[in-house]
Amino acid sequence: MKVNRSYVSSNNTYSVNIPQYIVIHNTDNFRAGADALTHAKAQFNGNLSTSVHYYTDDNDTVYQAAAHDHGCWHVGVNYGGRLFGTVSNKNSIGVEMCVQAGYDFNKAFANTVAFVRLLMEETGILADQVLQHYDVCAKNCPSQIRAKGMWEEFKRQIQRGGSGDNEGDSFNEKEYVQFIGSLPSDSYRVKVSIPDLHIRKGPGTNYGKQPGFTGIGIFTIVEESVGQGAVKWGLLKSYQKNRDGWISLDYATRI
Ligand SMILES: [Zn+2]
Repeated sequence: MKVNRSYVSSNNTYSVNIPQYIVIHNTDNFRAGADALTHAKAQFNGNLSTSVHYYTDDNDTVYQAAAHDHGCWHVGVNYGGRLFGTVSNKNSIGVEMCVQAGYDFNKAFANTVAFVRLLMEETGILADQVLQHYDVCAKNCPSQIRAKGMWEEFKRQIQRGGSGDNEGDSFNEKEYVQFIGSLPSDSYRVKVSIPDLHIRKGPGTNYGKQPGFTGIGIFTIVEESVGQGAVKWGLLKSYQKNRDGWISLDYATRI
């Protein structure tokens, strides 16, 4: 499985996103050729009214269309969903499975499972935080997975150690290992149990705050530092690039 990042843009995005959830969609665009590449290009070219971070289909290339630190427009309209507000466009990653004419559902499903497993490893997001668009907004989405009664199977296959490990034909184990290997070996996950933990631009209360809070959830820490106002500070993985997102580890429990 390859991830093509050529079509990443900030079209239809918010400039803030702190991913704690992965939300699964499917397109309902059954036209011929309406595959992952076509949708990624359409988002890149500004031709969509919504957006997601990733498009999958029945081929083995996934297309990324937005960066994780940008919020996409995929769970903003509520039809009475049980998790609307808890899950938002600013704390989630959207993954859209494409269902173009003649597509192979089983292959698209397996590819989406395999990709979401990689994404979970990269972000530290756990299976409980992988949701249907339906769970958030009560929209009938991902409609094709739901119509086939396959959502529970999807959840089963993304569980760590689940049978998805054995999907030899749809899952490249070597790439999986390389993907995890790109995480620094001293990174680890923490649970934050308070909703209003600030994110600082450096390791200390003497540094400015990033907008918003972490929210309650599981986060990956990639580096530790001493600093003012806490026993220890931890750098959040989603801020690793610019090293400007630190939380007080006094409020985080290592898991
Ligand atoms: Zn959807």
